[in-house]
Amino acid sequence: MGFAERYADVKAFAPVGLRGHLRHAALTGLSSWYRAQGRLEESLARPRVQFLYIHHTFTDELPALERLIQNLGRTHAFIPYGEAVDRILKARIDRPYLCVSSDDGFRNNLDGGRVLRDHGVSACFFINPGLIGLRDPERIRQVCAERLHFPPVAFLDWDEVNELAAMGHEIGSHSWEHRRLGSLSMEALHDDIGRSRDAIVDHVGAAPHFAYPYGRFRDLPAEGVKAVFEAGHRSCASAERGCHISDAPLQNNQLHIRRDHVILDWPLEHVRYFLANSARRASTAKNGYPAQP
Ligand SMILES: [Zn+2]
Repeated sequence: MGFAERYADVKAFAPVGLRGHLRHAALTGLSSWYRAQGRLEESLARPRVQFLYIHHTFTDELPALERLIQNLGRTHAFIPYGEAVDRILKARIDRPYLCVSSDDGFRNNLDGGRVLRDHGVSACFFINPGLIGLRDPERIRQVCAERLHFPPVAFLDWDEVNELAAMGHEIGSHSWEHRRLGSLSMEALHDDIGRSRDAIVDHVGAAPHFAYPYGRFRDLPAEGVKAVFEAGHRSCASAERGCHISDAPLQNNQLHIRRDHVILDWPLEHVRYFLANSARRASTAKNGYPAQP
C-alpha cells in the first residue's frame, strides 16, 4: 500500500463534487467583485494579527506555498507564532501581521518547513505525539481515514520534528492522537492534553502552544480550555475563521486564537478573499472563547 505523495492523490481519493464546483465558481465571482470595489486591498491593509493554517505541503503544493508567501509578504509582515501571540496579548499591533501554522504532523511538513525557512518565515507545526513515528501501514491507513478523512499519508518521526525545530519553527500540541476532545471524560481530557505537552517538551524542549483537533469551538469544551492553560501552554487555538486586533493587554487565557484555513491548491484570489473577509470583520469582541459555542 502506498502513501499519498501528491495533493493530486488526495483529490483522486475524494473528488470534488458538483457542490464543490459551484462553491469554487461562487468564490471566484465574489473575490473579483470584492477586488473591483477596492475592498480587498483595503481590508488586507488593516493592522491586525491573522493566523493561517495549512495541513499539508505535498510536493505539488510547494510552488503555491512559495507564491502565497511572496504575494502576501508584499503587504504583510510574517511573524513567528510566539511573537503573534505576544503582540495580541500586549496590544502591540501596528501593521498587518500574518503567522503560519500547520496541523496534523504529516511528513510532507518537512518540505513545507524548508520552503518557509528559505523565505524567512517561522511557522508553528501542531503535532499529535501519539502519531509521531507511526510506521504500521494499516494503522496509518485507519487513522488517516477515520480521524483526518484522508488517504494514507506518512507522519513525521521525532528526528524530523526536531529538524523542523532546528529550522527555526515552533512545535505545538494538537492533542495526543487527534481524538474529538469533547467526547472524552473530564479525566481523560486533562490527561490527553497534559500528556501531549509533556511528550513534546521531552523530545523538543518546549511546547508553548496548543491547537485542538477539528477546531470548531464546540470541539473543545470549556473544561478543555481550562486544561490547556493548566498544563502550561501559553496559547490555545481554534480553527474558526477570523483574526485579531486588540486595544488593551490581555491575560493568556483571555485569548482564544482564530485561524483561517488555507488549502494551497486553492486559487490565490480565493485565499486573499477569505483573509480580507476575516480582516474586515475583525473585532476585539472576537478575541476570547465564546461563552456558549
Ligand atoms: Zn487536525
